[in-house]
Amino acid sequence: MNEGAAQRLAAVREQIASAAREARRDPASVRLIAVSKTFDAPAIVPVLDAGQRLFGENRVQEAKGKWPALKERYPEVELHLIGPLQTNKAREAVELFDCIHTLDRPKLAHALKKEIDRTGRNPSLMIEVNTGGEAQKAGVAAADLPALLTLARDDLKLRVTGLMCIPPVDEEAAIHFAFLSKLAREQGLAELSMGMSADFQAAIEQGATYVRVGSAIFGSRT
Ligand SMILES: *Cc1c(COP(=O)(O)O)cnc(C)c1O
Repeated sequence: MNEGAAQRLAAVREQIASAAREARRDPASVRLIAVSKTFDAPAIVPVLDAGQRLFGENRVQEAKGKWPALKERYPEVELHLIGPLQTNKAREAVELFDCIHTLDRPKLAHALKKEIDRTGRNPSLMIEVNTGGEAQKAGVAAADLPALLTLARDDLKLRVTGLMCIPPVDEEAAIHFAFLSKLAREQGLAELSMGMSADFQAAIEQGATYVRVGSAIFGSRT
């Protein structure tokens, strides 16, 4: 099982490289985030030992429980928060994560600003866009993106580097990836966090600079 994770990691890396080449992109321009949510340290260590250093988690509490010890053993680990963030967890998130992909509202921008100033830590931020306009889903509406970006980037001077999306499950993901890519271009943002196990090749074709891959590396979550 654990050896399997290292093998699956190698296969995913190859698939990323070939998708990049097919899209006439430099494979090094696509970074793989290994999404380790729900998996414990013994499941993660083989992936670290296989050389992976960039990981994603979707819950602050869970990440706090396992990553500080792992970071002591593997100091070059880079940790990204890819799940929704409540303002009352902003402090812990700023302390633990190197990048937060889920900025999606003014109140959270203010909370992050406060904790960044207080801690002196300065994670990069991405704005999550609700590209499908789904009522129950996190993310800023595309129409509200310019205002949120003005607040976060220009007024609060936050380090906003890109956009993130999770397409609706029942729609063609590539359409959403293309839309996010267009929004990022319009706003002068370089990074695009899009694509998961089922659709990272399509995301790479549309310009993803970060793909977030969990089950294709770690196996299915129970
Ligand atoms: C769980 C998760 C992923 C990884 O999903 P897989 O289908 O397991 O690759 C990617 N992005 C987000 C936001 C997630 O919550």
